Amino acid sequence: MARCQARAASGGRRVVLDHSPALELLQRSDGSVSGARGIRRQAGGDWQVNAGAVVIATGGTSFLSRLLGSHTNTGDGYLMAAEAGAELSGMEFTTYYTVAPVRSTMTRSMSYAFATYYDEDGAVIPMPPGPETSRPLARAMLKGRVFCDLARTPEDIRAQVPTISPNFMLPFRRWGIDPYKDRFEVTLHGEGTIRGIGGLRIVGEDCVTSVPGLYAAGDAATRELVAGAISGGGNINSAWAVSSGQWAGKGAARHAAENRAGVGGRPIGQAGLRPASVQRDVDLGATLSAIQSEMLAYDKNIFRSGEKLRHSAEVLEGAWAEFDAHAGGVGGGLLRTRETAAMLATARWCAASALARDESRGMHQREDRPETDPRYNRRIIVGGLDRVWTRSDYGHALELAS
Ligand SMILES: Cc1cc2nc3c(=O)[nH]c(=O)nc-3n(C[C@H](O)[C@H](O)[C@H](O)COP(=O)(O)OP(=O)(O)OC[C@H]3O[C@@H](n4cnc5c(N)ncnc54)[C@H](O)[C@@H]3O)c2cc1C
Repeated sequence: MARCQARAASGGRRVVLDHSPALELLQRSDGSVSGARGIRRQAGGDWQVNAGAVVIATGGTSFLSRLLGSHTNTGDGYLMAAEAGAELSGMEFTTYYTVAPVRSTMTRSMSYAFATYYDEDGAVIPMPPGPETSRPLARAMLKGRVFCDLARTPEDIRAQVPTISPNFMLPFRRWGIDPYKDRFEVTLHGEGTIRGIGGLRIVGEDCVTSVPGLYAAGDAATRELVAGAISGGGNINSAWAVSSGQWAGKGAARHAAENRAGVGGRPIGQAGLRPASVQRDVDLGATLSAIQSEMLAYDKNIFRSGEKLRHSAEVLEGAWAEFDAHAGGVGGGLLRTRETAAMLATARWCAASALARDESRGMHQREDRPETDPRYNRRIIVGGLDRVWTRSDYGHALELAS
């Protein structure tokens, strides 16, 4: 950001609005996106940019699960794009969890390759070979507290940790714990679409979405194209963020140059900005708790089943009906209201997609459908605000197994 600001200050026509979240897109009557509007948190007031094209690069969302560095990742871009008619894809692949010491956001995961986990009685919790530890850990955590030490970490790795993950040791130092010797309690933080992989559907090599003039990059876009049904964490995600950012930027610039339609779009934000019915107080904390309960609870999201997902979908539909009808943020509450709307919309798409994928595949594991079913060898596309819909990327409506 500092480098961008320096370049902007050094001339040219770039303006960087830091601490200025976008709240909504502008759309022309022909359906093309023509800019965005938002607020300036520090300078005060608002902003509007009329543009030939827009790139959504607002990251994913972990539903504020206390994942490291994700406090501003609330899925705003998904909601803004969906209001313009964009589709999402892979939203069922949102069951990735990362281990962290309890009461901390320190989800740097590399060191846990050498972890030994213990239950409350001190018995070692057996782990399968390979990186997939969240299911056995979640199973143990549903029964009681889980502890960990990193005593198996080789000396040469210990020496490199401060370079690889400079912040990893900070909470331990603060607590006076030596993780290579002492046992400490751990938890699992849900990653939603951050180290999950769902996001805005890309329909062209220039990262254009299904809406003309609207492009997506990084975690805001689906990473199924590069990661399949498994997590993109570790290297794929950041490589995708850099590559897709360049492709989307070029695509957007080309579109803007070819379609010099000027201004003329109108702001299209709805939930949390312009309530469909009478505006009244909606409890944002309670809404967030409902979202987190359906999207992050281990028993619902890691050990999925059709019955649990249907229940989640119902709960989220009820919350959405109330929110869409009445929530309208004002003043300092505007951003939080809009962010809550975005997380709620995202949660509905996740639940609907997970229900539509009536099988187990990659990180999406259904207790009631433990096998991979060749009929689902396709992407699940999802969208809609008033009514959430799903379909397969073959263009046919999905036939769900009864
Ligand atoms: C703890 C952790 C460790 C990770 N480690 C790895 C790794 O080792 N290797 C790897 O490949 N990937 C890793 N990832 C994933 C990687 O960080 C992401 O894939 C990458 O940051 C995505 O970049 P992005 O720019 O798309 O999104 P982000 O980095 O999330 O950036 C999105 C930006 O948009 C801003 N924003 C949000 N809403 C709005 C709005 N309404 N208006 C304006 N701006 C908005 C946010 O504040 C943020 O600055 C890790 C993720 C986490 C959480």
